[in-house]
Amino acid sequence: MIHTCTSIDEIMEFISYWEKNRNELAFEIDGIVIKVDNYQQQQELGFTAKSPRWAIAYKYKAEKVETKLNEVTYQVGRTGAITPVANLEPVLLAGTTVKRASLHNADQIEKLGLYIGDTVFVEKGGEIIPKVVGIKLENRTPELQPVKFPENCPECGSALIRKEGEAQHYCPNDNGCPPQIKGKIEHFISRKAMNIDGLGPETIELLFKKNLISNYADLYDLNFDQVVHLDRMADKSASNLYLGLKNLKTFRLTVFSLLWE
Ligand SMILES: [Zn+2]
Repeated sequence: MIHTCTSIDEIMEFISYWEKNRNELAFEIDGIVIKVDNYQQQQELGFTAKSPRWAIAYKYKAEKVETKLNEVTYQVGRTGAITPVANLEPVLLAGTTVKRASLHNADQIEKLGLYIGDTVFVEKGGEIIPKVVGIKLENRTPELQPVKFPENCPECGSALIRKEGEAQHYCPNDNGCPPQIKGKIEHFISRKAMNIDGLGPETIELLFKKNLISNYADLYDLNFDQVVHLDRMADKSASNLYLGLKNLKTFRLTVFSLLWE
């Protein structure tokens, strides 16, 4: 939306109108750009080293809402890094319903002083994942308990470790922890690495569940019968996958450095 303004007041009115109504747009905006529309004046104003002097951005403050923290769950990544996630009472924020927010690591939880059941402030800045930015302490009731970071991996039970100077906790069981194994296989077959056609995260999940693979080396030993009998796999996609795996074998010797990455 473009509007010609003839005074500062009119500009401020335009800014505050869209600050209130920006959720009605079909796309997300984080501000307004104000430009001088007279070419003569643009030339007179000229440029700084980086940008024109006749255009400036007005950034809206990130939207902030309050909601209840129901639970904190812990995700285990491909590298074993543990990421705490705030599970929230669903709330409308910047036009979308938010149920989860990032908590980054144990330090962040401690810094916030988070209790399960707290009323929290959630903000959505430029990032896709909203984050918990504060607590409404006056809403805290005496029976609430502080969030306790786990000592063991939520997926495999191994004792978590935290390296000196690092904010993240890790599960050290890299060869036996299911999300780490699956994550590594997914990374191995991804476009950035081996780029195997016909093999997506769902198929990996399926192969893993059926005990057909427990690490990426097992991909080399799969045969057509095993692949074609997978649930929900049509003949065509089974042959695609099998072809992809066959191609994989020709790379066998060159991938060892990648395997141990
Ligand atoms: Zn684990």
